[in-house]
Amino acid sequence: MDKICIEDLKIFAHHGVFEHENINGQNFYVNAVLYVDTESAGISDELERSVDYGSVCKLIENVMTENTYKLIEAAAQSVASAILRTYELVDSVDIEIRKPEAPIDMELGSVSVKIHRSWHTAVIALGSNMGDSRAYIEEAVGKLINNEYVKDVKQSELIVTKPYGYTDQEDFLNGAVICRTIYSPHGLLRLMQSIENEAGRVREIHWGPRTLDLDLILYDNEIINDPDLVVPHPDMHNRTFVLEPAAELAPGYRHPILGLTLAQLLEKLKNNG
Ligand code: ATP
Ligand code: CA
Ligand code: CA
Repeated sequence: MDKICIEDLKIFAHHGVFEHENINGQNFYVNAVLYVDTESAGISDELERSVDYGSVCKLIENVMTENTYKLIEAAAQSVASAILRTYELVDSVDIEIRKPEAPIDMELGSVSVKIHRSWHTAVIALGSNMGDSRAYIEEAVGKLINNEYVKDVKQSELIVTKPYGYTDQEDFLNGAVICRTIYSPHGLLRLMQSIENEAGRVREIHWGPRTLDLDLILYDNEIINDPDLVVPHPDMHNRTFVLEPAAELAPGYRHPILGLTLAQLLEKLKNNG
């Protein structure tokens, strides 16, 4: 993809772990690479079809000066997020923040943090069968909508389903959301777990009653097999209560291992089940 590059944008700001850094301030240098398709701007010669780098520089300056972070990691995260949220045409960004006056007792050219952030697509399944299930689910969706690293949240209809696995419990309310997110798969899982915990989720019986269960079903076309995270969710294709709401949102989304779309997986399960 094409790139728009901003180099060594000098910004005086107050980030740092030490109090004197927060009080006195120092110079930071920001490099930004914006991945943008510039072809139609190139052909039409119209600024509206591209990203105005002048306004990007102003945005970076605002983020860097209106906040005081301890870490340049946090400053870089905020700059990346602000750019991705503000400019629809920007698909992904590289942000580097350099700190040439970093306070250590040695001679040092500079120290920097470089990050890459982009929008990803995630499908999350939601379920609840304790307390006010609808309220727990709506609150979870609201938290996703209000999260600064999440956008374009679309929610399915909620359906009442019979319990799966451990059947001696109340019916479930199930649904799904599809969204765009800057979170990594593990970052998103951590967010989902904190939303579950805020809903008073306690883990007792496996597949047992719960106030709120959020499962990461799909993340782009990624295949992840980590001890704490398996994506696509390994049992999704056997669960009508996952496939029905997910297929409502994205019937054409293709399972990266099975090669079938959500609509096809649902059809297949209905025929075999
Ligand atoms: P199931 O995953 O079969 O629906 P469950 O939702 O009842 O079962 P939990 O007790 O909620 O299981 O989660 C157990 C662990 O599963 C979590 O601690 C988490 O680390 C892990 N896990 C692995 N893959 C995923 C995923 N795709 N989404 C959510 N959690 C996952
Ligand atoms: Ca689950
Ligand atoms: Ca779960």
